[in-house]
Amino acid sequence: MLEVRDIHKTYERRPLLQGVSFSVSTGETVCLLGASGSGKSTLLRIIAGLEQPDQGQVLWDGEDLAAIPVHYRRFGLMFQDYALFPHRSVAENVAFGLRMQGLPREEIRVRVLAALSQVDMESFAARRVTELSGGEQQRVALARALAPRPNLLMLDEPLGALDRTLRTQLLDELRKLLHHSGIPAIYVTHDQEEAFAIADRLVMLHDGRVEQDGSPLEVYARPASAWAARFLGFVNLLSGWVVSLDPLRVETPLGHWLVGDACSGADRSGKPVTLLIKPYGIVPAATRAECNYLEGIVQDVIFRGEDFRVDILAQGMEFQFFVDQPFQVGQMVRLNIDPQAVLCLD
Ligand code: ADP
Ligand code: MG
Repeated sequence: MLEVRDIHKTYERRPLLQGVSFSVSTGETVCLLGASGSGKSTLLRIIAGLEQPDQGQVLWDGEDLAAIPVHYRRFGLMFQDYALFPHRSVAENVAFGLRMQGLPREEIRVRVLAALSQVDMESFAARRVTELSGGEQQRVALARALAPRPNLLMLDEPLGALDRTLRTQLLDELRKLLHHSGIPAIYVTHDQEEAFAIADRLVMLHDGRVEQDGSPLEVYARPASAWAARFLGFVNLLSGWVVSLDPLRVETPLGHWLVGDACSGADRSGKPVTLLIKPYGIVPAATRAECNYLEGIVQDVIFRGEDFRVDILAQGMEFQFFVDQPFQVGQMVRLNIDPQAVLCLD
């Protein structure tokens, strides 16, 4: 439905977007994930028509939107800072976009109530926005974005200003609402946990380009690069170079490593690579092993409810693993790592 094609944008000679392409299909929630300053909001403004790209196209159902002004695109936008009118009632705020469309009064009344009921806020219709909590205001902002029945909903870090408990709760509701309503959405965040929770598909933005595009499962199973892995919160990254193919063997400052991951082999002899060691399924070693062997001191053990996170320092490098049984802080550990838990990244 939405197609973003080769978008470029430069501000004050600093290239921000350098050929961004992705698409959003019917009913799909696409999460745009990137560090602060990576150009996410700029990209949304370009899609909305609030800003012109230097190059590239935004298409809706195959039609180039370059000549279509903002309000005719029928894209709903919702921001982190709500942008509600503080001295008006909840209902008046939600009615705003509908008035702009010039709908009749009765139709507006019906649609406002419907939108408020979608976010469980009907009973607040007459309240002033200043009398609402942050979470309630964010629901009103969402109702306002939904009321005009947008073709596409764009949410720019909508939960960023809320505390953790409220964020988790609203995220859950938002996911259900997006799935039930079937409205395609672009959800912008810099928080990978939030992205995993809500996305049908992740689009990761880095250095002005799409670093990786895939389902949360695909992306988590195989990050496209060392940057992507780090951004997704993986810690166990080890630089090295390929010494043999088939089996793929990598020399690192922490010894030799066998890589079980089949798709890693192609044409990498003598090349620098980064190994990603998945943080699960470690096995204590009785003695020093030939390869895939890690020896270090436990720095910290963090209880997480279901399991423990252990932080291990090995020759000055930090590693993190998730285990069922706690280790002792200060304890020396020797670990064997299954080659299947080792990925080779560019
Ligand atoms: P993000 O939403 O990913 O944090 P933004 O799209 O807001 O990133 O902005 C990325 C960079 O582009 C920022 O460093 C900002 O200074 C710059 N930028 C954004 N809009 C403008 C503008 N209108 N003029 C000049 N620089 C801008
Ligand atoms: Mg932003």
